[in-house]
Amino acid sequence: MQRSRSLARRQRVTPKKRNVVHYERRAPSMPHCAICRAELNGISIRNAKGRTRKSNARAFGGVLCARCTGDVIKLASRIENGEMKLNEIGMRHREYVLQLMAH
Ligand SMILES: [Zn+2]
Repeated sequence: MQRSRSLARRQRVTPKKRNVVHYERRAPSMPHCAICRAELNGISIRNAKGRTRKSNARAFGGVLCARCTGDVIKLASRIENGEMKLNEIGMRHREYVLQLMAH
């Protein structure tokens, strides 16, 4: 357990002035956009009880940021109208464009 890096190490000084290492849980990280890796807005990680994760009800809410969601919707409609082809889209967007067109 102490060799694992899943717990954060903290140097602490005891009341007897001994240096010891304490192992603590890391703080939960903010969710990030799956395309551009920006932190997602409008999402609260924990409420007063520290349990639920709130997200927004938009398409791809909690997965993509607002800007990338708009890009994906634009690309999907361009493909449906025949203005673009699927292989003209970057790999990261392609997965979500396909998801949108499946609906
Ligand atoms: Zn993004």
